[in-house]
Amino acid sequence: MRASPAAQLPPSRLIELLAGAECLSRTRDLREIFRSTAETAMRFLEGGFCLLFAVRFTPPDLTVGLLGCCVSDGTDTYWDDVCDGHSWLPVDPLLANCLHTDFGHAIAHDGESWRIAFAVGALGQARWVLELHSARKPEAADLQAFGLFLRCFENQHHAWEYANLDTLTRLLNRKTFDDDFERLIAAAELAERARLEPQERRDTEHTFTQPCWLGVVDIDHFKKINDSFGHLFGDEVLLRVADLMRQSFRGHDKLFRFGGEEFVVMLRNVSEDHVNSIFDRFRQAVEEHDFPRVGQVRCSVGFSRIDPRLSPAELLGRADEALYYSKEHGRNQVNGFDELIMRGQLRVTTPAGQAQIQSDIDEIFL
Ligand code: GH3
Ligand code: MG
Ligand code: MG
Repeated sequence: MRASPAAQLPPSRLIELLAGAECLSRTRDLREIFRSTAETAMRFLEGGFCLLFAVRFTPPDLTVGLLGCCVSDGTDTYWDDVCDGHSWLPVDPLLANCLHTDFGHAIAHDGESWRIAFAVGALGQARWVLELHSARKPEAADLQAFGLFLRCFENQHHAWEYANLDTLTRLLNRKTFDDDFERLIAAAELAERARLEPQERRDTEHTFTQPCWLGVVDIDHFKKINDSFGHLFGDEVLLRVADLMRQSFRGHDKLFRFGGEEFVVMLRNVSEDHVNSIFDRFRQAVEEHDFPRVGQVRCSVGFSRIDPRLSPAELLGRADEALYYSKEHGRNQVNGFDELIMRGQLRVTTPAGQAQIQSDIDEIFL
């Protein structure tokens, strides 16, 4: 019997790959999972650079969305994951090729270097493509061994999804919100700092210059929907609302199912003038959607600016107060905490909240 190509790899090469797999198995963060995978590819296959894509197949179109890229300067590798994987591009022939081969990879020589594309996932249903450019043509043993490493990546990604996504809607779950809040707030803090910087610097830097927002969405009279049509149709409403959220908000906004019929949205880099209309566009999309059996469904929204000085509980509390106002004043509407306070329609009840509002007002008027 002939040994498989990977069995001919020297032990030092296998250890290199094992070290990559060990590093991958330690990380619980999605971006780190992508980075660790790309960096192992670069080291093992001597890449000059590589790109990691998410694959989307909506017949007849096959498109890919860039998740990040990794570049080598000869000594170190640098990963950049600014891309969110939601700007879909048509696939080039090599990428399309690797998605349809039994081996899960395709290779081409473009004159100067080798382009190698690996599909990750079941044949015909791959979810990712890794494209690597290298001056060295990989051996069959390298390709097979790296293909096995990519299975570790796939398993790790499944574990991440199991822990972080809501099983019904596939939106991020409440636990992820709690775990990632610090990191999400750090992004908001950068935005806030950039916003407060002089105009000249803002113009020259590619950083967020607008605030971030936290919105709470709650389906109106959902209990009635369950009572009248049953839980299965209730669940279908939750699924459709989640889909409408994915369509209405941008790829880099964070969408969570908080539990029951309550959802949370984190909007990034949105001006004060636009935030209300963004949430209202979603509210309208729900109102205009024809839900199976149920027909029309409506929802209420409350939102608040993410002020990095506030705790998660305080921020959620503000958005919740605005939501409560929407519920109390006829439902099927959107309200922002700051505006309700400014208009005198909401009163801040906690002393910490009062001090905060006062300092916000001072900042505006002094
Ligand atoms: P309001 O307009 O004030 O928000 O009223 P509501 O009926 O939407 O709110 P309420 O909190 O009274 O009811 C929420 C219902 O959501 C009760 C609960 O049975 C139902 N629910 C919670 N989780 C799920 C779920 O996963 N699937 C389904 N089908 N129903 C759920
Ligand atoms: Mg409700
Ligand atoms: Mg509710």
